[in-house]
Amino acid sequence: MDDVPQYKRVLLKISGEALMGEQDYGLDPAFVDRIAADLKAVHESGVEICVVVGGGNIFRGLSGAATGMERATADYMGMLATVINSLAMQNALEKVDVPTRVQSAIPMAAVAEPYIRRRAVRHMQKGRIVIFGAGTGNPFFTTDTAAALRASEMGCDALLKGTKVDGVYDADPVEEKSAKRFERLSYRQVLADDLGVMDHAAISLARENHIPVLVFSIYEPGAFADVLRGKGKYTMIDDED
Ligand code: UDP
Repeated sequence: MDDVPQYKRVLLKISGEALMGEQDYGLDPAFVDRIAADLKAVHESGVEICVVVGGGNIFRGLSGAATGMERATADYMGMLATVINSLAMQNALEKVDVPTRVQSAIPMAAVAEPYIRRRAVRHMQKGRIVIFGAGTGNPFFTTDTAAALRASEMGCDALLKGTKVDGVYDADPVEEKSAKRFERLSYRQVLADDLGVMDHAAISLARENHIPVLVFSIYEPGAFADVLRGKGKYTMIDDED
């Protein structure tokens, strides 16, 4: 029983930072390939997968705004960065023979399909991985919120957030060695304690639609498959109090 994935359709959120691997900026092709291999393994087990990729490895709206740029313009630049990452992820998946479609929330006919909910569902039913680029298509949002939104629209059974660490901590575990790791949290606790794993809009959306959020380390090869079988290290955020 343990070896069977516990979810039928999931959304994986990968931060832009994860695609940098050990670099300081941009994409590390070897690391993108590694993530593609993890996705392929889960895809082969029959789980329907959609993906939201961040853009922080290339451009973040808030940093642009900090240099005096208009926030909305900077955010649109951030959204374009997520499309670059989506295409890189698609390329890595297709290299290992996983059929993949990119849908962009900002129409960009020459490089990606426009976001069409029912079409995305159909792609997954046909065994394709769907990558959602350009976040929600709106400035002042994050790709975490885009992930919660798309997971809700797609009727996903779980939202997996692949981060640098193996779960949610009460402080940054890289900086504070004594930081406490949580096995399980309620949405309410995450919001009340401002735990910072995802922004409030994303957590609220997941809560409203009863989508459990599983936080794990994408740096750990094979962790994506393990988490879906209830194995390995991750923090589960759901309704339980
Ligand atoms: N962004 C946006 N609307 C969205 C999603 C993203 O404006 O719906 C912009 C925002 O500027 C953000 C950038 O795109 O800083 C990159 O996304 P994010 O920071 O969420 O990426 P991650 O931290 O996951 O790499």
